[in-house]
Amino acid sequence: MTNPTITRRQLLLGACCLSLGVTSCAATNKTDPDALSTEPYPRNATEALDRLKRGNQRFMAEKSFHAHEKFSWRSLLVDTQKPFATVIGCSDSRVPPELIFDVGFGDIFTVRLAGNIIAEDVVGSLQYAGSHLHTPLFVVLGHGGCGAVAATLDAILHHAQEPEHIESLIKLIKPGLRGLDFNQSWKNLLHAAVEANVRWSMQQLLMFPEAKRALKERHVILVGTVYDLKTGGVRFLS
Ligand SMILES: [Zn+2]
Repeated sequence: MTNPTITRRQLLLGACCLSLGVTSCAATNKTDPDALSTEPYPRNATEALDRLKRGNQRFMAEKSFHAHEKFSWRSLLVDTQKPFATVIGCSDSRVPPELIFDVGFGDIFTVRLAGNIIAEDVVGSLQYAGSHLHTPLFVVLGHGGCGAVAATLDAILHHAQEPEHIESLIKLIKPGLRGLDFNQSWKNLLHAAVEANVRWSMQQLLMFPEAKRALKERHVILVGTVYDLKTGGVRFLS
């Protein structure tokens, strides 16, 4: 006769392993139905991308799950992590990737610097995400009204001066804005510049042979996105 307690525990354990995307899970007594993922762990880059898209849809509709936040879930992550995506975003306080994509602890590896720039230290973090965490999906997340991008436009158009270290940020963003039409309205120009900056970050990443190989041989996906501050929606660039 089946022991119902064991069956329930086994079910929970199975769900725990599935959620974390691991094949063995030693944290037998730490599971809690409330803490389990409401969605299965993505098996590849496409599923990871779909999960982020669904999460953003929930966020926009104010129907976020807020899963993977409780103590019981965090306990499972003490000795391991297996995020299914890496997000390269801006430091802007209005653009927190975990909230925008409705994911929780351990779900995404995030690297945030003003203007979602690809500085040298960023590359080290991304290399870690690729070679140690093996996230199948990399997302560059820009956003409307980005101050770093606006400051770069100001520097180009008006030769505005910023403190030394902000200047070094601007220097990294500038090359990506070269092809823009600077005769359009400020609003349209900033909109175009934000997208151009996302594409520039992607282009810089693709300059690394390791990144090219990961896309070709390990079916890693690199996606550019722009977050709308007003609607909360994320536009996935083609
Ligand atoms: Zn920004």
